Amino acid sequence: MDDLLFRKAMGKFATGVTVITTEVEGDVHGMTANAFMSVSLDPKLILISVGNKAKMCEYIKKSQSFAVNILGDDQRDLSMVFAGQVKEKKEIAFDQFEETPVIKDSLVSLACRVYHTYEAGDHVLFVGEVKNLHVKDGDPLTFFEGKYKQIS
Ligand code: FAD
Repeated sequence: MDDLLFRKAMGKFATGVTVITTEVEGDVHGMTANAFMSVSLDPKLILISVGNKAKMCEYIKKSQSFAVNILGDDQRDLSMVFAGQVKEKKEIAFDQFEETPVIKDSLVSLACRVYHTYEAGDHVLFVGEVKNLHVKDGDPLTFFEGKYKQIS
């Protein structure tokens, strides 16, 4: 099967946009990700899929904790920064939540402990147990066919 056709097909699945954050030895790291899903209510589990060449993979394996920050429609710039789509280095201010760095003013921040890790082809699936969360009102940033979209 052709790689481009597979990517095109997957791009037809409209998603929100998250930034995964973690801290290792006092340094905060972030990575944009849309491969995120809710898994279980009891216990409260979520899943993210991280490319095995992404630095975030090693960071999460080391820290054994991470946060999923669901971005609002006014946070496209942050998505671009944490996807490496902005050339210049940006100074980002993080909040601290349950001893995990989180993106300020996200629609949702979920503070998670790693519950399971699965190698899956060229990605690693991290199942996180949600320790705590906060939610605010607003419209999400969305992603469809490789482009950012706004709901309204
Ligand atoms: P790096 O390349 O080191 O970090 C990414 C960028 O974040 C760099 O530009 C870095 O300067 C910046 N950054 C990191 N920490 C900080 C900080 N503390 N302060 C300021 N800037 C910082 N990849 C996946 O594996 N899974 C996905 O689900 C996924 N979904 C994506 C969805 C979208 C909409 C987009 C645009 C990209 C997605 N990607 C996904 C690709 C992924 O975001 C990039 O490949 C990313 O660059 C990989 O990051 P890295 O961990 O290798 O770290």
